[in-house]
Amino acid sequence: MVALITGASRGIGRGCALEFAKRGYDIALVYAGNHNAAQATQQAVSALGVRTFCCACDVSDFEGVGALTARVLEELGPIRVLVNNAGVTADNLLLKMSETDFDRVLDINLKGAFNFIKHSYSHFMKQRDGRIINISSVIGQMGNPGQANYAASKAGLIGLTKSVARELASRGVTCNAIAPGYIETDMTTTMTGQAREAMTSAIPMKRVGTVSDVASAAAFLASAEAGYITGQVLSVNGGLYM
Ligand code: NAP
Repeated sequence: MVALITGASRGIGRGCALEFAKRGYDIALVYAGNHNAAQATQQAVSALGVRTFCCACDVSDFEGVGALTARVLEELGPIRVLVNNAGVTADNLLLKMSETDFDRVLDINLKGAFNFIKHSYSHFMKQRDGRIINISSVIGQMGNPGQANYAASKAGLIGLTKSVARELASRGVTCNAIAPGYIETDMTTTMTGQAREAMTSAIPMKRVGTVSDVASAAAFLASAEAGYITGQVLSVNGGLYM
């Protein structure tokens, strides 16, 4: 079985790659350009005894994603799990937000997922089995000042998830989203101590999440036990948003 994971070099994507490898999946790792991190993750995944395929590819590049998907199918075989995890932020109040930053965040976070689903759609249909997991965010559910682009992309992923779930349900393919709260990764380490404290105190469980919290939710959605769950948004946020 193969799991294709975007944004797999670091953070949540890396956690998912390791979690799926532990469960015996061969792993296709996609990343943007951080070759050292990607190589380190590939080595850690390979050490778990599974096959790997690792490739830099901008998820917003429609043609590039098509070529990459074909190579994964050729080199590793049928894809069972697709985790659309690659994501970026470019925060600013809307008044100051540039069109470029709005487009870039939408292109990577939302269109990136569309690109991978589009290019694996007929494969999943023919296979009559598969799990698509889109990594959204609590910000897509709540909104956040300074993150209109990010929130729009993550809310968009929820609409994409529900539509794809309805299209593919009769083919035995599920499509769900995970909405993580604040998770300890490179994306959140830039926060100052004061902002971090304020954020932690707003979380009912009084701690930020770990990549394992999200990776185990993804593994659950891919499991046999989750076979009747589709079109859902699984919040992994310590109670931050209910
Ligand atoms: P991260 O540590 O910043 O890692 C981002 C990953 O995405 C890296 O592997 C990066 O590759 C890859 N990436 C970025 N742009 C890409 C592109 N254009 N094409 C291909 N890959 C690209 O992020 P993270 O915190 O793990 O977040 C992962 C996902 O979870 C994101 O979608 C994020 O929005 C979502 N999320 C995160 C949190 C959180 O608190 N951390 C909360 C909710 C949702 P390189 O290493 O090559 O740069």
